[in-house]
Amino acid sequence: MKPEPSRLAAADDEAAIAAAAPAPRRTRQARVAWGSRVVTIGGDAPVRVQAMTNTDTVDAIGTAIQVKELALAGSELVRITVNTPEAAQAVPHIREQLDRMGIDVPLIGDFHYNGHRLLVDHPACAQALSKYRINPGNVGKGDKRDRQFAQMIEVALRHDKPVRIGVNWGSLDQELLAALMDDNARRAEPWDAKQVMAQALVQSAVGSAEAAAALGMERDQLVISCKVSGVQDLVSVYRALARRCDYALHLGLTEAGMATKGTVASTAALALLLQEGIGDTIRVSLTPQPGESRTQEVLIALEVLQSLGLRTFNPSVTACPGCGRTTSTVFQELAQQIDGFLRAQMPLWKARYPGVEAMRVAVMGCIVNGPGESKHADIGISLPGTGEAAAAPVFIDGEKAMTLRGDTIAQDFQRIVEDYVARRYAAVATGR
Ligand code: SF4
Repeated sequence: MKPEPSRLAAADDEAAIAAAAPAPRRTRQARVAWGSRVVTIGGDAPVRVQAMTNTDTVDAIGTAIQVKELALAGSELVRITVNTPEAAQAVPHIREQLDRMGIDVPLIGDFHYNGHRLLVDHPACAQALSKYRINPGNVGKGDKRDRQFAQMIEVALRHDKPVRIGVNWGSLDQELLAALMDDNARRAEPWDAKQVMAQALVQSAVGSAEAAAALGMERDQLVISCKVSGVQDLVSVYRALARRCDYALHLGLTEAGMATKGTVASTAALALLLQEGIGDTIRVSLTPQPGESRTQEVLIALEVLQSLGLRTFNPSVTACPGCGRTTSTVFQELAQQIDGFLRAQMPLWKARYPGVEAMRVAVMGCIVNGPGESKHADIGISLPGTGEAAAAPVFIDGEKAMTLRGDTIAQDFQRIVEDYVARRYAAVATGR
C-alpha cells in the first residue's frame, strides 16, 4: 500500500534539510603574504589548505622541490621546519628557488626551543618567511619564557609577519598544566585529568595570543591552534577555543597516523568542527607510507573541504561501489580512468574553462541506480551489469544523449566528457 504523505512530516523534513550546511565562521582575518600573493585566513576567506614538508630544510633544493609539489597539489601555505642555524640560513635560498620557479606560495617557519635566537640572528630568514609558528610550550622555562617569546614577537613586528600560536598537547606548557592541576585539586569536585588538559591547551593558546597582542601584535595577525590526537578531544578543545576568542583558527588532528586510520580520523575530526563553523585553515597530519607522496595530505584536505561543500577544487566523480550485479571490474577501471583524466586535465581546464571544477560526473555499475545517478550528474554513464545488454547509456544535463557499445566505451566516454567541457564551460568563459 502506498504510504500517505504527512504534511507535518514534510515540514519537519524541510527544517532538517535547511539545517544541513556548514555554520558561518566568525573569526578575525589574518593576511599571509609573499610579494603580490596574499592568502587570507579567517573571517569571510575560504577555509585554507596548508601542508608541511618532511625534507631536511638544510637541503634547500630538495625542500623547494617538495614545497612546489605541495603548492601545485593545492596547498595554499607551506610550513617548513627551522630548527638549526643551518636551516635558518637555507630559508632565503629556498624562497629564491621557489621564486625562480614561479611558485609564490607563502612559507611558514616552524620554530621550537631556539626560535628566538634563529629569528634574531638570521634576519634574511625572518624576512623570507611569510608567517612564524610559535609553540608556547617550547619557548623556554621560567623567566626565560616571557623574554624569549617577546623576542620572537618583536621580530614578527619588525618584519610585519603574522604569527600562529600553535599549542600541541605533546609539548604543552608544563608549568601552566601543573598550576591548573593544583587549582583543580582544590575544587570541591575536581574535573578529570582530560578536562584540565583541555583547559591548559586553551589557556596556553589564548593567553599567549593575548601576550603577543600586549606586545603590539594586531589581533588580526594572530592565528591560534590547539592540536590533540583524539577526535573527541579535538572537538571539545576547539569548541572551547571558538567560545573563548575570535582569533583565526588553524585546525588539524595532530599525529593522526597512517593510511586509512590517519585519513579517517582526520576527516572525522575536521568535518565535525568545520560543520560547526570552526576552523579557518586546515592541515592533515598524515604519516606517509613508505614511497607515498607527501602531497597525499593535501589531496585529503581538498577532498574534505569539497565533500563538505565548503570549497570546490576538482570535478567530482560519483561512482557506485559495485555489488553482485556487476561482477566485472569494467566500471571500476572506467571510474578510475575518468577520475585520473579529470585531474590531469584540470590545470589546463581551470585556466580555459571557468567553473569546470564544479562539474559532476557519474560512473555507475548497472541499471539499478545507474540511470538515476547519471541524470543527477552533469554527465554520467551507466554501464551494463552482469546479464544486462552490452550497452552503456550516457546522460548529459539530465537527458539520455546516446548509448555506447563495443570495446572502446572508456575512450568514447572520455571524448564525450572533453567535448562537453569545451562546449559548456567555454560558453561560460565567453558569456554566451
Ligand atoms: S548501481 Fe548497480 S552495480 Fe552499482 S552498487 Fe548499485 S546495484 Fe550494484
